[in-house]
Amino acid sequence: MRIVVDLDLCQGHAVCQAEAPEVFTVPKRGKVEILLDQPSGAHRAAVGDAVTYCPTRALSIVDDSGPDDR
Ligand code: SF4
Repeated sequence: MRIVVDLDLCQGHAVCQAEAPEVFTVPKRGKVEILLDQPSGAHRAAVGDAVTYCPTRALSIVDDSGPDDR
């Protein structure tokens, strides 16, 4: 899987960081930064929660078939 962020939508709420701190970081005043843009399957649940709970729907997951998706 690959994470896609629409930075025009991100308002820095940091919900994503709370859900998946190994994958997302949000500076105090700024927009999300992706630490792992192709996280392993072990992060999928947390990333899914981040996508679901992001208040501005700025995040999405793209499923590429790749070794990380196993
Ligand atoms: S939860 Fe959404 S709006 Fe908030 S920092 Fe993360 S991507 Fe941006």
